[in-house]
Amino acid sequence: MENITGRDVTVGGLVIAWIAISKQMERCEVDNICRRYEHSTVLSSGGWRSIINEQKRRLRLTDNVFIGIEDQEGPINAEIVQTEGEDHYVLLTGSVEHPINVEVLLAHELAHAALRHTRGSWLSSNLAAVLFGVAYILTTNIFLAILAAVLAESLLITPMRQQEEFDADRKAAEIAGPQKVIETLELLKRTEKPLPVVDSIFSNHPPIDERIKRIHDYFSPVLLCEPDA
Ligand SMILES: [Zn+2]
Repeated sequence: MENITGRDVTVGGLVIAWIAISKQMERCEVDNICRRYEHSTVLSSGGWRSIINEQKRRLRLTDNVFIGIEDQEGPINAEIVQTEGEDHYVLLTGSVEHPINVEVLLAHELAHAALRHTRGSWLSSNLAAVLFGVAYILTTNIFLAILAAVLAESLLITPMRQQEEFDADRKAAEIAGPQKVIETLELLKRTEKPLPVVDSIFSNHPPIDERIKRIHDYFSPVLLCEPDA
C-alpha cells in the first residue's frame, strides 16, 4: 500500500466530521421533539390512555411511550423519536378535530417503535460516509467517492427506510384495520404537498399510492370481507 498522504488524512477527517455532524443532527432532532412534547397536550388521560395501552399490548411494546399533540391548523402529521434512555416520544401535529384518524397515525408510529425503527443502526446512519472514505482510498478520485456516497444513499439507505414505512403501515393495519389505514393514507394524499424531484428520490416516505397498493395487496382477502371495503 502507498504511504498515507495529506489528502488521505483530509478525507479521513471529512468522514469523521460527517459522522459526527450526522450524530449531532440526530440528537438535535430528538431534543426538538422532546422539547415540543413538553409544551404539547399530553395524550394520557381517559379514552386515549386505554387506546394507547391496547395498541401497545397488541404490538407487544413494553417501552415507555410519551405521546403529545401540538394543536395547529392544517393537516395532521406524526413523528417519533427514541432517546438514549430508550424512551419513545410521539408528537402529533395538527388539529384533533381534523378528519384524519388519529388512532391510525398512533398505530403507525407505535409500530415503528415496536419494530425498532426509531433509532437507525450505526451502519445505516453512516454508510454513505464510510463508503465515501473507502471509495476515495481505493480510487483516490473525489468524484467517484461522492458518487459512491450518493449511490449508497439512494440505492441502499432510502429503500431500506421506505421498507420500514411499508412494515409500519402493515403492522398498523393489523391492529387498526386495513380499511382504516387506507382511508387515512388517502386523506393524507389529498393534503400532501408534492416534493421536489431530488427530495422525492431521497425521501424516507414512499409515494402514498405505493403504500396504499401494498396494503391492498397484502390484505386483499380481509378487505374483500369488510362490509365498507
Ligand atoms: Zn412512518
